Amino acid sequence: MINSKWSRRDFLKIASVHGAGLAGANALPTYAARADRKSTSNRVVTENVKTVLEDGSELNTPFRRIESGRDGPALLLTASLHGNEVIGAEVAMRLQDVCVRELRAGSVWLVPMANLLAVRSRRHSFGLGPEQSNRMHPTKVHNMQRFPGDPNGNNTQRAAFALDQTVIRHCSHLVDIHCYQRMNAAETLGVNGHERSRPMADATTTRFIRYVLPAATPEKNMLINQIVLKHGGCAVGMELSGQFEISERQVQIGLSSMVNIAKRLGMLPGEPERIEGPRVTMTKEKSHVAQAPDSGIFVPGVAKDKIRNLAAEDYVEKGQSLGHIIREKDLERVPILAPATGYLAVFGLCHWGQCDASLPAQHPYAEAGEAVATVVTT
Ligand SMILES: [Zn+2]
Repeated sequence: MINSKWSRRDFLKIASVHGAGLAGANALPTYAARADRKSTSNRVVTENVKTVLEDGSELNTPFRRIESGRDGPALLLTASLHGNEVIGAEVAMRLQDVCVRELRAGSVWLVPMANLLAVRSRRHSFGLGPEQSNRMHPTKVHNMQRFPGDPNGNNTQRAAFALDQTVIRHCSHLVDIHCYQRMNAAETLGVNGHERSRPMADATTTRFIRYVLPAATPEKNMLINQIVLKHGGCAVGMELSGQFEISERQVQIGLSSMVNIAKRLGMLPGEPERIEGPRVTMTKEKSHVAQAPDSGIFVPGVAKDKIRNLAAEDYVEKGQSLGHIIREKDLERVPILAPATGYLAVFGLCHWGQCDASLPAQHPYAEAGEAVATVVTT
C-alpha cells in the first residue's frame, strides 16, 4: 500500500478472470491481446541501479528502458517498492512487450523490483518479521517511501537515493504500482490538486479511483510521487488487489492502465479504452458496510454466475446475498444481505488490519458486528 491508512482487503478474488459471467461490468480493454499489430522492434536496454550498502558490498537493482529513438515523455513504472506488493513486476514485463513493438515516442523505464532488499526478504519492508505488516514495523525506517533517501543512511535509504539518482530524476511521468490486501478492490490514487497529473489517473482502468496523494513536496521523507513532482514531473499511484501473489486479472488491470496512459501521452498509437460502467469514488457518504449479525463462521456468497465467490470489485444489488454466518450459538445460518446497490470496495474478513501478512487475520470466524463487506454506491 502507498499509505497504510488505506488498508483493508480479503481473499476470494479467485477468478475474476475466468467466468464468462464476468464480462460486462468487469470487462477490461483487451488491447494487450491484439498482439501482431505491427511493426518495428524498439531498443531495450537493461541496466542496474547500483547501491553501495552499509557493509561496502554493492546491490544491483535491474531496470529496463525501451527507447523509441524519438523525442517524447520518459514514462517510469515502479513496482515492488514494498516488497510484498509484486503484481506490478509482471505488469512491467507485459508493458515491455507492447512497447518493443509499438512505442513511437519517448522512452519507457521499468523497475519491476524497486525495493530489491524487501523483495528478497519477501516482506513489505526490510526488517519485518514473519506475519508482520508495515504497521507493526518498529521504526518504519526501512519503508522505501522516504525519498530522496540517503547515501549514508541504512540500506533501504541508500537504495532509495540511488534509485532517484539513476532513474527517477530522468523521467517525466511516473506510475507507481502497489497492492492492497486482497479483500480490497484495485484503486487508482491520483495526486490531489495537481492538474497536469490528472489525465494519467483518468486513463487508468480500475473501477475505483480517488485523488488523495499529496502534491506537496517537502525536503525529505517524500513518497515517490512527491519526488517526481519535485523534479517537475507528473505522477499517479495504483493499488492493485492482492499482496504476496500475482493474479492474471490484476495484471490485466495494470497493463491496460499503463497502455492507456502511454496512449494519452502520445507514446503508443490509438486512443485510451475506457472500462464499461462508471468509475467509483469511495467516500464516507457513499460507503455502506455490511456487518456480521452474530458471531460464527462467515461463508462468502456466490457471484451471479454461481461458479465463483463474490469478490471485491463485483457489482451487487441491494438485498442480494453476500453470504451467511454459521452462528456459533445454535448453528443457524444467518444471511447477510447487501445494504445498498453498488460495487464492492471490500469483501471478506480482515481481522486486526493484518491481512494479507497474517494467515489467522484471514480466518473466516467473525465476531458480531465485524465488517464483512463495504458496498460503494455510484
Ligand atoms: Zn505499498
